[in-house]
Amino acid sequence: MELTLNRAAMQVELSGIRRFTYLVRDTPGACALTIGEPDFNTPEEIKAAAKAALDDNDTHYPPGNGYPYLLEALSEYEAREHDLHYSPDEILVTVGATHALFIGLQTICNPGDEVIIPTPAFGLYEALVQLCAATPVMLPTENNRFQIDPEQLRAAITDKTKAIVLTSPNNPTGCIYTKETLDAVHDILKDRPIFVLCDDVYRTLVYSGEYHSFSEYQDMRDRIIIINSFSKPYAMTGWRLGWCMADAPIRERLQVFEQYSVTSVPSFVQRACVTALKSDTTYIRDAFKRRRDMVYRRLCDMGLDVQEPEGAFYMFIPIARYGMDSVTFCEKMLAEGKVGLIPGVYFNTEGYMRLSYCYSDADLTEGLDRIERFLKTL
Ligand code: PMP
Repeated sequence: MELTLNRAAMQVELSGIRRFTYLVRDTPGACALTIGEPDFNTPEEIKAAAKAALDDNDTHYPPGNGYPYLLEALSEYEAREHDLHYSPDEILVTVGATHALFIGLQTICNPGDEVIIPTPAFGLYEALVQLCAATPVMLPTENNRFQIDPEQLRAAITDKTKAIVLTSPNNPTGCIYTKETLDAVHDILKDRPIFVLCDDVYRTLVYSGEYHSFSEYQDMRDRIIIINSFSKPYAMTGWRLGWCMADAPIRERLQVFEQYSVTSVPSFVQRACVTALKSDTTYIRDAFKRRRDMVYRRLCDMGLDVQEPEGAFYMFIPIARYGMDSVTFCEKMLAEGKVGLIPGVYFNTEGYMRLSYCYSDADLTEGLDRIERFLKTL
């Protein structure tokens, strides 16, 4: 008797980022600069709202797409803060941005479709596309200051292209797309039946530069799915809460995957989401900006040719000149220098490593000192 499992489930590799993170964690005395989540705790008032909801016995099945009061709050927040106008029935509360991306891709992709992923990219996209039995098409940007080259994008499009994923600020580079880049992408896509998944989870963590999201191109509203999350701006990664917004006909179908995968997100956390939307977390952004400036200065002083990131909380550091692939380099740096960074290959880009500055000043200083000492041994 031969047992067979789903082909995609057998082929898709488990996250390299996670594997490497565990390797760092299990290396005695290692200093980790790996993690992609704020080192802050969830603000007290957000936790208090969830506790109060529990005490009120808000423990029953909530409505499928999110409580109407939360959908209303999200709709108002998006209009007020980001000038995005989606009615409550064009919003869906999800289990983090991860789930929003999962159901977004499941809703639009058929087997054999192609999805363009500008790289370096968060590894999740490639895996999710493969789980749809669709084909990820990588679009390298590292030779173009991490901006999409319009000619390369045009060349990547085929009659099977179903979607493109745009992440700005980006994980792992921290770069944001310029208005010029977005205009060029819009010019290419506006008359084509191609969906745009706007992964805007770092949208509120921008420290310099003029920020624009592709979500602003509302003439393409029928093809845009906007993905967002409570994880990063409110230090709520463990709560697993996000949301997505899309034109009514798409949103209508997104709920099929929502319904049959999770029914809904948990009930009592939804009140906390409303509190989060009203919370002032600029102190988190300010801390990241200060750390970005400090880390960038130190890396430049080490002679590393890093592109200054405008947002998120990562630096993508070029290491090709050391003549090793990124996994070998990072493993060596971990074993000998006792400092852990994530190999660039896990973001589909060789010759780099990702540093996260979601750490205290003391940890960052220690990690940077170790990187400096290790580089001198090469
Ligand atoms: N998109 C990007 C670009 C990310 O970096 C992450 C998390 N690292 C996610 C989505 C997933 O976030 P969530 O915690 O909301 O699932």
